[in-house]
Amino acid sequence: MAAYEFDVLVIGGGPGGYVAAIKAAKEGKKVCIAERANFGGVCLNEGCIPTKTLIKTANTLQEIKEAASFGIEGVNPANVSVSMEKLQKRKQGVVQTLVGGVKGLLRGNKVTVMEGAASFVDAHTVDVAGKKVTFEYGIIATGSNVLVPSFIKREGTNRILTSREALNIDAVPASIAIIGGGVIGVEFAYLFNKLGSKVTVLELMENILPMVDEEVSGMAKKRLEKDGVTFHMGAKVQAVKDNAVLFEKGGKAESVKADCVLMAVGRVPNTEGLNAEKIGIAFEKASIKTDDRLRTNIPNIYAIGDVNGKVMLAHTASHEGMVAVDAICGKHARMEYDKIPSCIYLDPEIACIGLTEKQARERGLRVKIGKFPMAANGKSLVEGDTDGMAKVIVDAEFGEILGVHLYGKHTTDMIAELSVAMSMEATADEIIHAIHPHPTVSESLPEAFMAAYGKAIHCM
Ligand code: FAD
Ligand code: NAD
Repeated sequence: MAAYEFDVLVIGGGPGGYVAAIKAAKEGKKVCIAERANFGGVCLNEGCIPTKTLIKTANTLQEIKEAASFGIEGVNPANVSVSMEKLQKRKQGVVQTLVGGVKGLLRGNKVTVMEGAASFVDAHTVDVAGKKVTFEYGIIATGSNVLVPSFIKREGTNRILTSREALNIDAVPASIAIIGGGVIGVEFAYLFNKLGSKVTVLELMENILPMVDEEVSGMAKKRLEKDGVTFHMGAKVQAVKDNAVLFEKGGKAESVKADCVLMAVGRVPNTEGLNAEKIGIAFEKASIKTDDRLRTNIPNIYAIGDVNGKVMLAHTASHEGMVAVDAICGKHARMEYDKIPSCIYLDPEIACIGLTEKQARERGLRVKIGKFPMAANGKSLVEGDTDGMAKVIVDAEFGEILGVHLYGKHTTDMIAELSVAMSMEATADEIIHAIHPHPTVSESLPEAFMAAYGKAIHCM
């Protein structure tokens, strides 16, 4: 008789957990997964997929309003509007299809599914809704939740939304103040602006989107401003009082009043009720501490995705799930955290990977910088939007690609090329000599790499 009921037990059915469970089953393991709410986790139910579904409608609305500039007659922009009821219905349909798909895949791979919150009893046993389950290896994939910080005081009567409520609105607010100019703040600023709200963003730092090269994020900020979004940079929000956001900027107290306030100042790992501390799992601040093979300090327990607090992205969670299962199976995969692509869904889009120019210089690296404007890219002109650029950061001596930051049409679908290139330690020369099809926005990549050597063809 086997010592444990399962070879692998996964806690949490988000993009980290469900991928790990399926991968472990495909490796021949007997697998159980426990989920306390909805399969697909934050990503499918209240994160990546619902935001992008709403943003798709915002983009479509914009295109229809601009129909005349594409030679289309008969569209009166004043008559075009969005039915929030129909949009919410579409969003639910997309979410349900994907969540159903995840459940089907788990079933198809003979993963045992348990519904309920899991809590550790010891390093080989969990309790799921009163039932004890034993396992050889455990993978914690419990994700994260919205951070509602105590340092932002709340006084009077407020309508404060988190991303969760913002995704479920049934009417577009006339005005919204967004606290935080990170990815959530900026994607929602874009969305609400396109849907017709007056949007104000309050950000503590001097730049929005800290993981993106300043020059590139600056271009996106300028575009959002041109479209009507107001930014207060260097704004330290201290309180929300009767829907007015109170902040300090350059030593001066200021405020912004709006119909509602979106809190977007980050997320915190989910570990409440897990009993992880009780069985001796080590933490780093609020996150479960892991190495580059996702091992915790307890030899048979791994932690993947947002709960380890390293890079809170869905594709990171899924990849960590694959690496953890490889480690369990005695293989030698490792995470390379400096080569994870990141995409921000505005129009035009932002996509980036690796170091920013500032980070490279702070590390004392000798770099060459190449830039190619989308205004010189034929496909961008065809698309009717030439804002943006491709910016590349290359090692000056060997030509190794250190970072790529893109702002332009279709760039979120282009960045995977750089992910492959960087994982193979490719050089600028290798991208330059790989043929990019015409007409595509991807042609801006070899051009930007050639620009790093002063040799771009299609710009001076
Ligand atoms: P989660 O998706 O959080 O899943 C964890 C699961 O564990 C949940 O289903 C939860 O119910 C369950 N759970 C928790 N505790 C227990 C327990 N004790 N027992 C049983 N089950 C438990 N990332 C991107 O890459 N691209 C995007 O475009 C993007 N957009 C986003 C938009 C928004 C508004 C938000 C909030 C996030 C977005 N993210 C995006 C981030 C992405 O959603 C997360 O990085 C990703 O969901 C993390 O996956 P995970 O598996 O670690 O955790
Ligand atoms: P974040 O950490 O990216 O940004 C939070 C921002 O709030 C920071 O820029 C910070 O300087 C600012 N801030 C903090 N305290 C403040 C204060 N008192 N006043 C003013 N500003 C303040 O967090 P987020 O935007 O909430 O996103 C959470 C996670 O979700 C991120 O890790 C992100 O990767 C993930 N996400 C990804 C995508 C995507 O990939 N497209 C989309 C949405 C969310």
